[in-house]
Amino acid sequence: MTQTITPQPGILEIALYQGGQSKVEGVTDVVKLSSNENPYGAGEAAIDAFRRASYELHRYPNTDHTSLREAIAAQHGLDAARVICGVGSDEIIHFLCQAYAGPGDEVLFTEHGFGMYRIAALAAGATPVEVRERERVTDVDALLAGCTENTKLVFIANPNNPTGTMIGGNEVARLADGLPAQAILVLDGAYAEYVEGFDGGLALLEQRENIVMTRTFSKAYGLGGLRIGWGYGPKAIIDVLNRIRGPFNLSNAQLAAAEAAVKDQAHVNRSRTENTRMRAWLAEALAEHGVPSDTSCANFILARFASPEEAEACDTFLKRRGLIVRLVASYKLPHCLRITVGDESSCRRVAHAIGQFKAGAEA
Ligand SMILES: *Cc1c(COP(=O)(O)O)cnc(C)c1O
Repeated sequence: MTQTITPQPGILEIALYQGGQSKVEGVTDVVKLSSNENPYGAGEAAIDAFRRASYELHRYPNTDHTSLREAIAAQHGLDAARVICGVGSDEIIHFLCQAYAGPGDEVLFTEHGFGMYRIAALAAGATPVEVRERERVTDVDALLAGCTENTKLVFIANPNNPTGTMIGGNEVARLADGLPAQAILVLDGAYAEYVEGFDGGLALLEQRENIVMTRTFSKAYGLGGLRIGWGYGPKAIIDVLNRIRGPFNLSNAQLAAAEAAVKDQAHVNRSRTENTRMRAWLAEALAEHGVPSDTSCANFILARFASPEEAEACDTFLKRRGLIVRLVASYKLPHCLRITVGDESSCRRVAHAIGQFKAGAEA
């Protein structure tokens, strides 16, 4: 018999995800600035909770995540019944696409938008639709013009990755209010903690029925390796997402560490303060070396070079010195390098090396 085994339509269009590189052949003292990880790691409270969870490895985890949801709700002033927790915010993005978009439906995002939106749309059999940005900034008019009667989801990250730029609350409100009736606006707040005093759009969300927010413990909380994220939105939508959530999607260790982390805001505040200080320093140092960047609101800088060739040559130059940054050609930014804001010594090392590169040093 001739087999005719084929995956669902769209699946083979998904390019395998390329994570940030973490090793360089022959170099030992490597600094990884390619995945927007917290250079200060997780907080002590989260690490302690994780360690304690190791004594309960034989126990199944709680399925409704009540304790973590209540901690998140208390921190942000939310209704715990409308919080959903997932394996990174990636899983929440997948739930949204799986539950609300299928064949014939469109999932909208911007040209330099996060790669997971396309992957999740295709995995659900829906059609990813990309709209242009305005000089590396989310363009609300372009998004509204890109909507059709088939648009089910509109994703924006605010601040955005890999551009680091963000749009104001009025613009987000204009987007939410201009969407067709069947569409959900998803505000991806992966970097919201890095913006002092920013609620990620929660106040706006509370006044609408068509906004869902996603958040993560992977960035400012320093728990990228543990995979925990959450979503918040109207009760009806969260109830739908919970129907497709695996009952044991989060382990005891994930739940315990995340709960301890959310109660340890001192760690987040330290991470934000240091990030703000070193981001300003790094942007200015690069500008002095003739490498401009947009004002970043996140924990990375998008460094612009004269050409794709120069960006690639600089990437190679940095790698030879053990400095791993991110080429973002797949985000339609082939002349740029995304550089995570590391601790002070990493920032100094990368700025110094880029200075040498621009001064024409031998690779
Ligand atoms: C890093 C990042 C996330 C976080 O993903 P997790 O699955 O929570 O680790 C989400 N959105 C954007 C735009 C990101 O850059």
